[in-house]
Amino acid sequence: FSSSPAPQTNSTMAPVETKQYDYIVLGGGSGGSGSARRAAGWYGAKTLIVESGRSGGTCVNVGCVPKKMTWNFATINEMMHVGKHYGYDIPDNIAIDYNSFKKTRDAVIKRLNGAYERNWGREGIDLVHGRAGFVDPKTIEVTLGDGSGTAQYTAPHILIATGGRPNLPKVPGAEHGITSDGFFEMEELPPKVAVVGAGYIAVELAGVLNAVNVETHMFIRGDTFLRKFDPMVQKTMTDRYEAAGVKLHRHHPGFKEIQLIRDGKGKDRLLKLIGHDGSELEVNELLWAVGRAPEVEDLHLEHPGVKLNHAGHIVVDEYQNTSAKGVYALGDVTGQAELTPVAIAAGRQLGSRIFGPPELKSAKLSYENIPTVVFSHPEVGSIGLTEPEARQQYGDDKVKIYHTRFTAMFYDVMPPEEKAKNPTEMKLICAGPQEKVVGLHILGLGVGEMLQGFGVAVKMGATKQDFDSCVAIHPTSAEELVTLR
Ligand code: FAD
Ligand code: NDP
Repeated sequence: FSSSPAPQTNSTMAPVETKQYDYIVLGGGSGGSGSARRAAGWYGAKTLIVESGRSGGTCVNVGCVPKKMTWNFATINEMMHVGKHYGYDIPDNIAIDYNSFKKTRDAVIKRLNGAYERNWGREGIDLVHGRAGFVDPKTIEVTLGDGSGTAQYTAPHILIATGGRPNLPKVPGAEHGITSDGFFEMEELPPKVAVVGAGYIAVELAGVLNAVNVETHMFIRGDTFLRKFDPMVQKTMTDRYEAAGVKLHRHHPGFKEIQLIRDGKGKDRLLKLIGHDGSELEVNELLWAVGRAPEVEDLHLEHPGVKLNHAGHIVVDEYQNTSAKGVYALGDVTGQAELTPVAIAAGRQLGSRIFGPPELKSAKLSYENIPTVVFSHPEVGSIGLTEPEARQQYGDDKVKIYHTRFTAMFYDVMPPEEKAKNPTEMKLICAGPQEKVVGLHILGLGVGEMLQGFGVAVKMGATKQDFDSCVAIHPTSAEELVTLR
């Protein structure tokens, strides 16, 4: 694999050459890679990827992959606890070597970085490491990552797939805390951590920390977390976290100041959190998980005239066209369902639409009924409308709810008070006389793997009758979804 023979100048001189491509992709993350590979690998478009960080983007380096590996790591500790009730002679305080796990995780990610670059090379895609910005609607300039200067590239089609980055709140001393990026750099587990936020990242990372015996404090603004999810998910999961030992600070008014008491790592680090209500808490680490912002700052979008919305996301139509002809955007930078498979699928559709055969000239991703899983403890799976959304859309009298709550057989070996801490809960939301399934929400052991197949059914427009006509698989938790009364 050879990278593009980029013209190299020092940054004060004009670039010596502008290299021409069919397709330039800004960002080698999920969406950029998916689109470039479709354009080059399937349709032979001469394609360049410009990547300012590590190949593979957020998902591979500081997102889905290290997160899921850490979830697996934490789940093993939970399972060992259950294992004792199955008769395994597992001591109470097993030492956890987080640093060794972190090294293993880093090595997996490094392999993935290489795999991405090899795939691009195999498909004839050029890669330039550097930071890109527009100089005119069809030309980008890259500040080369090796410090050798700048280079310019031009193409009739340019895709912006530059993703996002974590927010830091405007609190004095906020910089003493970390974000999810910093979480994945941690070399050892701090004994006591505060997590601020109530979305996917806060819930996933707080869940992991709590499961590996870290004293975990969660600060949320409302009464529940995961507030965009169905009320069943919000309530059960928030209660479940509290029952599992997470110290929840509900209705928190926010922080007045963060003080660094002692610099260092792990247990040697000490921060003081001072709340607007006068409360004080000392912790060894503070994790901000208060949302993400689109990565558009260095792109000079004024040159092509690409419009942003009030939240700073790039505005696109259903075909991923921006307001500038020949400039497209997708993935997190557009704020549309910020999930890796969404960015990949949108990227592939766009690659087919621009470079594929005439019958694909209208190719686009359907953003309706996208399944999603929160890798919490336990997992949450969701597709379609929440109950309040369905009632608003169809009217109360047209909506029928099917609901069940039980304990998975796996936990039957445990005493009742422990079993109660491990609920499985399911809700089917049906609408109209046919009882079409318009929402499906599940939480409990194994639901992350369960949702994909049910997602196909919902996407196909299945009705409650279709669910019921499928013979159950026994004994599983999933069978409850086809036997709901
Ligand atoms: P990215 O993957 O972020 O790629 C953008 C790339 O553009 C980056 O590599 C960046 O370096 C590069 N770039 C930025 N600016 C420039 C520039 N000016 N010039 C050149 N390059 C530039 N999604 C799931 O589906 N499942 C999960 O389990 C999941 N877990 C997550 C956990 C965490 C902690 C986080 C933060 C995210 C998670 N996500 C998950 C979301 C998922 O990672 C994103 O939706 C996905 O990576 C978005 O892809 P993208 O292509 O839009 O952007
Ligand atoms: P989310 O949009 O999920 O959540 C942001 C959270 O920040 C909200 O819950 C909000 O709380 C809270 N918040 C915002 N400002 C403040 C503040 N000042 N003080 C306290 N809380 C605040 O964002 P994330 O960053 O967690 O994740 C970004 C996206 O990445 C997700 O939406 C998801 O699309 C994707 N992702 C997907 C994952 C997966 O597929 N498993 C995992 C991780 C991320 P409130 O509820 O009070 O408004």
